Amino acid sequence: MKNETAEQATKLQSYIDSSKRIVFFGGAGVSTESGIPDFRSKDGLYNQKWDWPPEEILSADFFFANTAEFYRFYREKLLVSGIKPNAAHYKLAELEQAGKLSAVITQNIDGLHQAAGSKNVLELHGSTLRNFCTKCSKPFDASYISSHQDEKGIPRCDKCGGLIKPDVVLYGESLNQDTISRAIDALQKADMLIIGGTSLTVYPAAGRINYFSGNKLVLINKAATQSDGIATLVIHDSIGKVLGRIAI
Ligand code: ZN
Repeated sequence: MKNETAEQATKLQSYIDSSKRIVFFGGAGVSTESGIPDFRSKDGLYNQKWDWPPEEILSADFFFANTAEFYRFYREKLLVSGIKPNAAHYKLAELEQAGKLSAVITQNIDGLHQAAGSKNVLELHGSTLRNFCTKCSKPFDASYISSHQDEKGIPRCDKCGGLIKPDVVLYGESLNQDTISRAIDALQKADMLIIGGTSLTVYPAAGRINYFSGNKLVLINKAATQSDGIATLVIHDSIGKVLGRIAI
């Protein structure tokens, strides 16, 4: 990783100063700076030892066939407690508050953007903060999932006894169409796109950004990515550090 140069910082600031409909598209790197492990990084969940590969555990088929094992993994690896938003989350919320940012599109499922104050957050992969009974649709918060379980370790609805499922898009499930439509709409109307904390190699991130037709496309990622060539400004640095410096 190189650090952001003064020239890059000045250019980013001038882009932001001249924009009114910024869209931020964020990946795992935004959350890892808050201490949440990245599924796909070398030290992330995908290289840790379980009886099944994590992408199999986190599939819809596995959820219904091996629910207890799914929840054992889910509670340990995905329900991370005590995590706080970082400087990137807070600055994006401030930009929205100031009327300069129209949407945050995120691949993360931790709710940290809302915790920082962002309102229009489009969660492509859902959220661990929302959970629903598969029988009667009663909603449950994350703390219920952590603290309530039957003898097998499965959280059950306190109204009907049904199985509770997180509102997270599992492998084999489709993304929410309404969320996708709103993300596309925001991208089409955006005058600046900031992509942060993602290598853009994970489907479906790569395809989505084609809806952006503006001329200010900024990529902020610690490491170089295959997509660096498409951006008008590339900064290899911490997303929290770079956005934290922005003046509004
Ligand atoms: Zn129920």
